[in-house]
Amino acid sequence: MAGRLQASTAISFSALLPLLSCRSSFSATGKSLSFRRFCSKPLALSSPLMEVSAQARRGFSFQEGDFASPADLCFESPLKIVEYPDPILRARNKRINTFDENLKKLVEEMFDLMYRTDGIGLSAPQVGVNVQLMVFNPAGEHGEGEEIVLVNPVVYKTSKRSILYNEGCLSFPGIYADIERPASVKVDARDLTGGRFKVNLSGLPARVFQHEFDHLQGTLFFDRMTEDVLESIRSELKALEKKYERRTGLPSPEIIDKYERTKEVAGFART
Ligand SMILES: [Zn+2]
Repeated sequence: MAGRLQASTAISFSALLPLLSCRSSFSATGKSLSFRRFCSKPLALSSPLMEVSAQARRGFSFQEGDFASPADLCFESPLKIVEYPDPILRARNKRINTFDENLKKLVEEMFDLMYRTDGIGLSAPQVGVNVQLMVFNPAGEHGEGEEIVLVNPVVYKTSKRSILYNEGCLSFPGIYADIERPASVKVDARDLTGGRFKVNLSGLPARVFQHEFDHLQGTLFFDRMTEDVLESIRSELKALEKKYERRTGLPSPEIIDKYERTKEVAGFART
């Protein structure tokens, strides 16, 4: 499965597949029908006042409602992948300021789901939780490679050099396409305990990060495809829209045949 590396790709990642992908076999187990709901207790809220003053000192603007509430961080176990065109994938993702057991449990379940679906990266909105959180492990196997958790990530530098790479996405099962992205990025984020750190990413980790970072902005990978590439997957996107309509009984909230690049896709470079 997976990557279908293009000859034009000037990097040799062939050993690193599958990329960000893809098989929804997890839902076929049929065993895990007992849903459990996880929520932070309201009392477990970390001090929002401290966070507000820290933001103010750094000169960021703060708005009420910027941070995820305990209700925003509720999730049902087992997690399921949210597929295109579910509007959850386009919703705003709130920043996190509560670093508690509930968050750890969510991350644990995201890794578990990612491994079961042969992915190497997963963002919180893809499991129906609209917060600024992503997990990835370029090795794609539990117990191998390095598990990376990024909370509230911000990109503060990107390389001028960009690379074409064949990507898949767990929210678009079976769809792969070439996308150009910067070769490396510098990122500022928090870890699971709330500690701030900076990390320089290149190679496959930079690619996975940027794909998941897009999810946190409500950007999907076809927003970054050239017209020709988008054309090559149009029928598959339409099939997903039909599948959504059959499943929900609702009209598809996005229609690829009416897709216009009206909104500028956010660039990665931030000053
Ligand atoms: Zn994705």
